[in-house]
Amino acid sequence: MALRMAIAGNPNSGKTTLFNAITGSNARVGNWPGVTVEKKEGIYKKKVSGQTITLVDLPGIYSTSPYSPEGIIARNYILDEKPDIVINIVDATNLCRNLYLTTELLEIDIPMVIALNYIDVLEKDNVSFDVMVLENALGVKVIPISAHKKKGLDEIMNAAYKAAATKRQARSVLRRFSLGDSISKISSILRELNISSSDYIAIKLIEGDQLLLDSLNLNDDAKKNILDAINKIKKDHEDTEGLIADLRYDFITQNCQCAIKNSKKLKETTKTEKIDKTLTHKIWGLPIFFLIMFLMFFLVFGEFEIAGITVMMPGVLAAYGIEWVIAEIGELLARFLSFVNASDWAIGLVVDGIYGGVGAVFGFLPYILVMYLFISILEATGYMARAAFIMDRAFRKFGLSGKSFVPMLMGFGCSVPAVMGARTLENENERRLTILVTPFMSCGAKLPIWTFLTAAFFEGITATLVIFSIYVLGIIMAVITGVIFQKFVFKKQKTPFIMEMPPYRAPDVKTLLRILFEKFKSFAKKAGTIILVSSVIIWFLQSFSFSFKMVDNPNDSIMAKIGGIFAYIFKPMGFGTWQAAFAVLSGFVAKEVVVTTFGTLSGLGDPLENEGLMEQVKAWITSAGIFVSPLAAYCFMVFNLLAPPCLAAIGAISQEVKSKKWTAVILIYQLILAYLISLLIYGLGNLVMLII
Ligand code: GDP
Ligand code: MG
Repeated sequence: MALRMAIAGNPNSGKTTLFNAITGSNARVGNWPGVTVEKKEGIYKKKVSGQTITLVDLPGIYSTSPYSPEGIIARNYILDEKPDIVINIVDATNLCRNLYLTTELLEIDIPMVIALNYIDVLEKDNVSFDVMVLENALGVKVIPISAHKKKGLDEIMNAAYKAAATKRQARSVLRRFSLGDSISKISSILRELNISSSDYIAIKLIEGDQLLLDSLNLNDDAKKNILDAINKIKKDHEDTEGLIADLRYDFITQNCQCAIKNSKKLKETTKTEKIDKTLTHKIWGLPIFFLIMFLMFFLVFGEFEIAGITVMMPGVLAAYGIEWVIAEIGELLARFLSFVNASDWAIGLVVDGIYGGVGAVFGFLPYILVMYLFISILEATGYMARAAFIMDRAFRKFGLSGKSFVPMLMGFGCSVPAVMGARTLENENERRLTILVTPFMSCGAKLPIWTFLTAAFFEGITATLVIFSIYVLGIIMAVITGVIFQKFVFKKQKTPFIMEMPPYRAPDVKTLLRILFEKFKSFAKKAGTIILVSSVIIWFLQSFSFSFKMVDNPNDSIMAKIGGIFAYIFKPMGFGTWQAAFAVLSGFVAKEVVVTTFGTLSGLGDPLENEGLMEQVKAWITSAGIFVSPLAAYCFMVFNLLAPPCLAAIGAISQEVKSKKWTAVILIYQLILAYLISLLIYGLGNLVMLII
């Protein structure tokens, strides 16, 4: 039997770094809180006394309270799967906060050792640490390590191996306080029922942990006795959870703090405090934040002309580069296929269907990667935690957290990285809600739809207002959705805003590159599966008639017929033509395609490729009566704004919410909202016009 060791600790305490260093595997090292939600397992590179050792990298947690999926996962693993030993990794530069979790873990009946990490930082700052003080206070072995510098790894593994062989008496630091008697009483009731880790469970029950209480399946007698004891405490202390937290911290400051020998404060902390004075300043904090965000967007999407020369920022530059490469390869592919005398449909399938669809989606990749790079830098330096904190108060009002802000902001660029960015939200409901509303932020690919239709139907200042109103509408819908879900779907379940304010640090290049590579990998995987299949299906529907003959005129295609059916649905909003329906459907491939589709349908060509065509296509749109009025065209825009996003983004949504049910809820909600709101605007608009 292999020995099982679990690594538990706060986010950013270096769990993943330690895990990777001792297993040599490639588990991701990152700075996103909550990224290690999946349980990661690996095998120790060496053997100890001929034994194989498996390791589990538990999600980062501040405590074992059931406020986040991470907390529940980690504690269930320790309590139920009973690893042979817990290696509690502690960030020595943040001792107090990290030891909070330690005091909880000590109460569980499992051997434990402490890996005191970041010892290199302490050394650099000339801070000395008295390991004995900590060992005496906590009663477990403490080994100083630097996961980053790979120091002390053999020592910690040997100590863990030794400790795993001996039974450890679970102990609670709370016993010495006034609460001790009540804990003893409840603990002994639990022990009589053969429930292990009785101190731990007793304390959680006093804290009011309903989840744990339910999972125990106590008999009525025991339950009554326990609840009686708890109620007795509650007479004196209303907030038992707060009381217990205070006592734990009291213990830590009285007994552990003095392990840090150098009275001088850690240099890093003071540096951080100084920077924080400016960056989270009451008045300057917000403008600085918006400036940083603006700069980031500019670096990703910026493109301007100066003295006749077009200057492109990294994101745009990379996008043009990729676009060029994709087009060239497409050309080569087409030439090669005609060279080998491939049939028309085979060329169409490969070039337009497979390559065209997947290629179009890869066109987003540079934006995604460059955006992610900047976000990761802001994350790694520690700034993002402050930004979320600044925004939290405003967002809390409509069911979101400050951490929703960044994904939503990214949504104005591209929903794909935005939806992925929602990973920073630990609370499941907040994460789902953020993912749901992010696509309402009008993304870059939707902009051509607005500019194209607005130019065709509106003039002057009205045109500007129309586009502006679309952006505002998206934001309003996000807020309304937040309020609705908060009130009717999620109900209570509010979680406190717990977010670590890590010290400011220079980002680690290796970590950044690894994050980018991970992003690329997950994107390529998606492009190779869901997007590939859907592209082929859409190509087929566009290129074939119901008699399975290839069509020259798109009007004869299956898609046109399907569009004809959907046209009925859009009739009440004034765009009940099959062309408009077709454009909406094609928009699921990528939103730019909506405009391209109008070009194809007019028989004139792609207006996005050829400036001169734009005017003709616009003229065709009005003369062909695709939209019964400018208002109808506006409602078409509203529908495209709120309806489910493109396939790439839908793929990201389903991947991130990890639940078929929730993916369905999100997409159906978006669809219904898009329909109702465009219907409402059409009705109200017509009413207003009737009156004036
Ligand atoms: P996790 O959230 O606990 O998995 O933490 P990570 O392993 O992802 O580490 C967070 C960051 O701290 C990474 O940038 C690591 O490179 C860095 N880090 C981890 N351990 C050490 C260490 O011992 N010394 C230093 N200087 N940096 C470390
Ligand atoms: Mg980690």
